[in-house]
Amino acid sequence: MGDKHVVIVGAGPGGLTAGMILARRGFKVSIFEKNDRVGGRNRTLELDRYIFDLGPTFLMMKFLLDDVFELAGRQSGDYLHFDFLDPMYALNFGDKRIEVTTDHERLKQQIASHFPGEEKGLDEFLRIEKRRYEKMEPCLKKDYSQFSAMLSKEMRSALPYLSLGKSLFSNLGRYFTSEQLRICFTFQAKYLGMSPWLCPAAFTIIPYVEHAHGIWHVRGGLSRISEAMARVVEEHGGTIHLNHAVKRILVKNGTAEGVELTGGEKITADAVVINADFAHAMNTLFEPGVLKKYTPDRLRKRPFSCSTFMLYLGLDKCYPEPHHAIHFAPDYRKNIEDIAVHKRVSENLSIYVRNADVTDPTLSPEGHSALYVLAPVTNNTSGIDWPKIQDQVRAQIMTTLKTRTSMSDIEQHIIAERVITPTDWERDDVYLGATFNLAHNIGQMLYFRPHNKFEEVDRCYLVGGGTHPGSGLPTIYESGRISADLICGK
Ligand SMILES: Cc1cc2nc3c(=O)[nH]c(=O)nc-3n(C[C@H](O)[C@H](O)[C@H](O)COP(=O)(O)OP(=O)(O)OC[C@H]3O[C@@H](n4cnc5c(N)ncnc54)[C@H](O)[C@@H]3O)c2cc1C
Repeated sequence: MGDKHVVIVGAGPGGLTAGMILARRGFKVSIFEKNDRVGGRNRTLELDRYIFDLGPTFLMMKFLLDDVFELAGRQSGDYLHFDFLDPMYALNFGDKRIEVTTDHERLKQQIASHFPGEEKGLDEFLRIEKRRYEKMEPCLKKDYSQFSAMLSKEMRSALPYLSLGKSLFSNLGRYFTSEQLRICFTFQAKYLGMSPWLCPAAFTIIPYVEHAHGIWHVRGGLSRISEAMARVVEEHGGTIHLNHAVKRILVKNGTAEGVELTGGEKITADAVVINADFAHAMNTLFEPGVLKKYTPDRLRKRPFSCSTFMLYLGLDKCYPEPHHAIHFAPDYRKNIEDIAVHKRVSENLSIYVRNADVTDPTLSPEGHSALYVLAPVTNNTSGIDWPKIQDQVRAQIMTTLKTRTSMSDIEQHIIAERVITPTDWERDDVYLGATFNLAHNIGQMLYFRPHNKFEEVDRCYLVGGGTHPGSGLPTIYESGRISADLICGK
């Protein structure tokens, strides 16, 4: 295979996964990355002496990460130190706080104390959703380049478990009656950038997997995963060219023949893999006229995920707050509708706070902490002038931190700070600032999501959150594996 050259556009988790598997299988792999470091949205952000993850902080389904390392002939544990998180996270509603653990008896005790009588629902949730997960997992691992994949044995067997027409939130009504308790098992829709009231019920597999298998922290931050993958690519002889942006995919007679870099250099390839944000790539990387299905006008009409407003704070203090905590807005449903439907900034935001220094001493100087705050917000179809309201949104988040956590004096302890708004995400080539890519509605899943073997151009493949199986690290690793297998098959 050494004579077969694969060019990969972007060193995000999707591109790196495909790269390490293909390099291991003997392909000549060249990855071109526009940034000065690998990882994409899963890269390190350094501020002063503080180390943050720019994006992902939750690692679930670690076994899928282990699988792709094994396909690359490696053990993830030889490159990365994993900490299993127990409790996984704290959920705060103002009047109650639940420490969510994978110890189901302990979790039942907590449910019983906050929602008496509802604890029985947990066993039902785990029993019934396990079945759904077992039916759906093989479907997520398949390639959907051909419609016939929708009629496969696995899909036919999973069909009754898709609960078509039902939302994640309504599905949870099978197990729990309290709205707050249902929110505890449906807020995970935010991992897909969706509202639990709109997210398909099939995605109940996400909270199931979390409760069944738990979540992990990676020492030094989850960005270390991308850095480890980059090492594996290079150990197998692949090359990663940082600060090298691809300007165009070179297409002749409907077939990708290589790429042109912004510097003008042309690189020929037997296959091109696109890891750049899907919609951004469609809008910028092809000569006008090449694409028919994913034209700018057509893309604009598609539903996209929400965006995120980020605060990264280097503090000269480490507060006794949980590793992961979610503080729900007093009216969570209204907050979600503001994001997904009305496209405005809520008076009360929900925030996610990551205080990883309580687990990991390597992120900041002793006694200090690198606090990461994420507020899901509407994407840039809203027309909101984020630079104009940035200070106001920051102040709102600060008020929540000061009044709902032990961090009442936080403002006196900020040494370093960075704010990232949806405008900044878009500047970083994330289409519409929609950080979790195309929405995950049924009309954009499986065969209906952009295919791993790109349907518009031959010898061109897609990896990353904008293609099948979807946004989120485990599914992105799967996209890299599926595309690598397709290239090998070809
Ligand atoms: C704030 C945030 C929090 C998240 N939290 C989680 C989480 O906790 N758990 C989870 O599982 N997932 C999470 N995600 C979702 C997802 O896992 C990450 O976004 C992931 O990094 C996406 O990977 P990717 O491979 O699709 O693309 P990206 O990470 O976007 O990588 C694409 C790469 O392509 C490069 N590129 C783009 N254009 C070009 C070009 N023309 N030439 C060369 N290179 C180019 C980019 O610079 C980038 O490095 C989160 C995402 C965000 C933004």
